[in-house]
Amino acid sequence: MQKISQRYIVGATLEQAVQRMRSLNRQGFGVTVDVLGESIANLTQAEAGVGAYLETLDAIGAHGLDATVSVKPSALGLLLDPQYCEQAVGRIVQAAEDCGTAVCIDMEDVSCTDMEISLFNGLHAAGRQVSIALQAYLRRTGVDLERLLAHGSRLRICKGIYLEQPQHLVPGAQSDRAAINPYFLQHVERCFESGTFVSVATHDAALIRQVTALAERRGVARSQFEFQMLLGVCEPLRDRLKEQGYLVRIYLPYGNDWYGYSTRRMKENPAIAAHVVKAMFLRR
Ligand SMILES: Cc1cc2nc3c(=O)[nH]c(=O)nc-3n(C[C@H](O)[C@H](O)[C@H](O)COP(=O)(O)OP(=O)(O)OC[C@H]3O[C@@H](n4cnc5c(N)ncnc54)[C@H](O)[C@@H]3O)c2cc1C
Repeated sequence: MQKISQRYIVGATLEQAVQRMRSLNRQGFGVTVDVLGESIANLTQAEAGVGAYLETLDAIGAHGLDATVSVKPSALGLLLDPQYCEQAVGRIVQAAEDCGTAVCIDMEDVSCTDMEISLFNGLHAAGRQVSIALQAYLRRTGVDLERLLAHGSRLRICKGIYLEQPQHLVPGAQSDRAAINPYFLQHVERCFESGTFVSVATHDAALIRQVTALAERRGVARSQFEFQMLLGVCEPLRDRLKEQGYLVRIYLPYGNDWYGYSTRRMKENPAIAAHVVKAMFLRR
């Protein structure tokens, strides 16, 4: 498992993350860093997570890197003490602003949706440099999106990665990932219409073609949106997009808690894990 996850995770140390950020920046990619640390049992662990983000942001500032950070509020105490979490994320956002960058709040499972939107709204209303991810597989997202756009919020649209009950999902989403695409595209179109910057987080080549065609048709400037992809996934596609002049940002996870991250990736796409495992064995 550790060998497999090396493809998706840059390593355990900040030094490794900085090296990879530099290399990706040199190749023309932006980065968003996720400091891994998912399941926490107490606020001491949450505080350690805050510390890791602050160190990461120090390094981003010191090396002048083109890198934002992405945070999962549950790793920063959301489910243990929402007030603590709010000030923890606030401290990370402050550090990001101090080094001229921003924070994206990842969206987690449906038990967190309302709390994460509310956390975002508080920070955004205070004029902080923050964006939030919305999941196109959720029925509620159209409504959430309109409320957020009304306040000029900066958004990331993704399909969604958690295993949710069918009543939360758009029709067809449970059995067919492509069934999410029309909703995804609609959300991106609403962001284009409202003129807000949007991050389009997907590796789905057909969907990406639809997004670029939509942007062309509507005359949306390439500075108004970016594609985001996970480290180690669909690299030829991301390289092509960059060569075509689109902004591309790589989601770069690092840290010791690689297990939770890798197992989610494997659950999401077991076929890929099988290919990686096969390649690993064939190399020997
Ligand atoms: C930058 C970024 C940020 C994200 N943030 C969030 C978030 O905040 N909340 C959330 O719920 N989800 C998040 N996700 C995950 C996202 O919701 C999807 O689960 C994930 O991106 C796979 O969906 P897809 O859009 O690529 O389309 P899919 O239809 O799932 O996949 C399309 C094709 O992409 C390729 N592919 C997809 N995933 C992989 C993989 N892991 N390995 C290899 N090939 C793959 C395959 O060829 C697949 O056929 C994020 C994804 C990205 C890229």
